[in-house]
Amino acid sequence: MDFIFLQELGYIVAAILFIFGLKMLSKEDTAARGNLVSSVGMLIAVLVTLIKVVDPYLILLAMIIGAGIGSLFALKVKMTSIPEMVALFNGFGGLSSFFLAWSQFINQSNVSFILILTYMTVFIGGVTFSGSLIAFFKLSEILKGSSNLLNNISRWFLVFICFFVLIAIGQVILSSAGLLAINFELIQITFIAFLIASLLAGLAFVVPIGGGDMPVVISLLNSLSGIAAALAGVLLSNTALIVAGCLVGASGLVLTLIMAKSMNRDLYNIFFVGYVSDSNSEEEVTGETKPILAEDTYLIMEAARSVLIVPGYGMAVAQAQHVVKELGDLLEENGCEVSYGIHPVAGRMPGHMNVLLAEANVSYDNLLEPKDVNPKMETIDVVVVIGANDVVNPSATEQPGSPIYGMPIIETHRAKTVIVLKRSMSSGFAGVQNPLFFKENTRMLFGDAKESIAKLVSEFKE
Ligand code: NDP
Repeated sequence: MDFIFLQELGYIVAAILFIFGLKMLSKEDTAARGNLVSSVGMLIAVLVTLIKVVDPYLILLAMIIGAGIGSLFALKVKMTSIPEMVALFNGFGGLSSFFLAWSQFINQSNVSFILILTYMTVFIGGVTFSGSLIAFFKLSEILKGSSNLLNNISRWFLVFICFFVLIAIGQVILSSAGLLAINFELIQITFIAFLIASLLAGLAFVVPIGGGDMPVVISLLNSLSGIAAALAGVLLSNTALIVAGCLVGASGLVLTLIMAKSMNRDLYNIFFVGYVSDSNSEEEVTGETKPILAEDTYLIMEAARSVLIVPGYGMAVAQAQHVVKELGDLLEENGCEVSYGIHPVAGRMPGHMNVLLAEANVSYDNLLEPKDVNPKMETIDVVVVIGANDVVNPSATEQPGSPIYGMPIIETHRAKTVIVLKRSMSSGFAGVQNPLFFKENTRMLFGDAKESIAKLVSEFKE
């Protein structure tokens, strides 16, 4: 049996499974199967890689331990913490390419092309790893916002890039001149400096970026982890790694562009200018809120002919999706037209609200984008905002000084009546006050979203 042929065949099968798996992820009813198909592809790729390995037992052991830890975390993680977990996954993807390239450097070759590839893999892998760790800390709100001092770091990022390019060019010149073999120790020291600088560049890259821009950063880091893997694949001449890396790299890049567009943000501003919260130009939001009880909310909703439900991160925290669906069904039974307004960056990960509502069996046809709901907002009787804040903040359209100015929102403030469900007057992820809560047509239903909706459901049932 020709093992090399078998291995290449395995890689082709794995690549086909990745592509089909990815395609299936785009539809709600095939997404779970798509995940499984891609996982089987990855298992095949890993197993056929072991064919070339002389002593595969250590790797098998590492695989079992890794799969055990991964499964444990995936089973235990709360739905609201999935974005943090995705950030860590991206980071570890980058870290493995980083280590892989490092090991290739130790088995050094003085072919310039290989050296350049090694540098690129270490650089992108290192930036992805440390950048994803910062994204993880920002998402878990251990690290908040940004400051002028941190924004300064973004300038350092550019300095680091120049530093790397210089070292890399120096290395290539040295190696092509055949000096690598003569002065290997010196080269190793510069390489270690390169490793450390790559990790620092990741920190400098993500630290100055503010919470509001995190969706774009996370999808870019996802794309970078794929690019690092593809480069590592070229280093190792591993077809499966190249294909998988390219798929992740390209799809992540498309997602980055979609997220930036849906937030109306310029990529240059997000990555190089940072998130400068100009507190002087942000107008103080004052006024009185009008709290409402669940019993009175029921009376308003019972009389409504059209209701738009706008979920946000708070629905994920409260795990209210199932009662939300129940409320939607009861409203429809009452002769009301019900739809869901879904903002692309609501929640903490791309498609967060779609996933939650699909879990509760809300039909995809009822989920509308801001561009579909905004034009008919004045005709909607009642908008129920469930734990959403930044994505319905009118400052994005009304206050040029606001840090979120320019971001497209669901313009709920233009509806006839708005009921906002949240626990307090605290701000959303971007840390910006929300004038919606003080508008004439807004009523605040304070409390945990799941409990508040459960009360509305029981009122309808009575
Ligand atoms: P926000 O984070 O702006 O607001 C969530 C609101 O939910 C809070 O005001 C909070 O108020 C309320 N809340 C929390 N827990 C509960 C609960 N149990 N019951 C009721 N309300 C609750 O969410 P949005 O979805 O509006 O906006 C998403 C933000 O996250 C945007 O700024 C976006 O840029 C950012 N982001 C998005 C990512 C993505 O990919 N989608 C990734 C990273 C960041 P209170 O505490 O008073 O209850």
